[in-house]
Amino acid sequence: MAAIAERLRERGRRIGVVPTMGALHEGHLSLIRRAARECDAVIITIFVNPLQFGPREDFRRYPRPLARDLRLAASAGAAIAFAPSAAAVYPPGFQTRIEAGRLGTVWEGKVRPGHFSGVATVVSILFNLTQPHRAYFGQKDLQQTLVIRQLIHDLGLPIALRVLPTVREPDGLAMSSRNRYLDGEARRRALALWRALQAGRAAIRRGERRASRVEAAMRRAAVGARVQYASAVDAGTLARRPRLAGRTALIIAATVGNTRLIDNLLVGV
Ligand code: AMP
Repeated sequence: MAAIAERLRERGRRIGVVPTMGALHEGHLSLIRRAARECDAVIITIFVNPLQFGPREDFRRYPRPLARDLRLAASAGAAIAFAPSAAAVYPPGFQTRIEAGRLGTVWEGKVRPGHFSGVATVVSILFNLTQPHRAYFGQKDLQQTLVIRQLIHDLGLPIALRVLPTVREPDGLAMSSRNRYLDGEARRRALALWRALQAGRAAIRRGERRASRVEAAMRRAAVGARVQYASAVDAGTLARRPRLAGRTALIIAATVGNTRLIDNLLVGV
């Protein structure tokens, strides 16, 4: 991979990278299409990263439809797919970690200890191997985008970060590889997250500025799902402020049956 990236750079090509865990859907494809418009060569990485899964999480059962992914990625405009094995990325003796800092310890990082260290570590490796000029991530994983932004800044990486909007199903459910786990009844209940975000946004649009009231509206609307957190926070820092001001992110994590889902919505206040 590094040799290919080097050759592309020697020929003056602008490289765009789209890191994914595969099981591609329209959300991923929107990133690839945008990268293909803005770059000369798009590299999609497909790697279910063991380092970012907790011991009781879905690493083993995470879907891995590689042949289908390669077809979809190519048709969306990816020139190269890098799908290494876990042993290639983490050979025996591997022990280095990138720590994400404060942004890695709140919200998702609190519920999933070590998750963002796993993300920051693998993304650093993938950046090094693919040598991108631009990297494409989805707003669907808002906290992840902030961790990566900080990583790029703190390590002085010459990479432009592109964050693209969340692609949703027609009824509002954010597309996710984990939606495959949802059967009929759970699929219906999964809409609770989108309903909660809309309820929070409606409260803000009615003039509500107390974070606690906005959060109460979100929780009330989230019937059918078991909410882990539902909060109104600063969109740049994810810090909770009692009174909302500026760019606000409504964030939610909830489980539906055995499936854990996250979503978010940005609202100007
Ligand atoms: P994943 O394969 O879940 O690790 O996601 C790979 C990339 O696709 C990440 O940058 C995600 O934020 C992004 N992504 C996942 N779902 C969506 C979506 N529904 N809309 C836009 N981007 C997404």
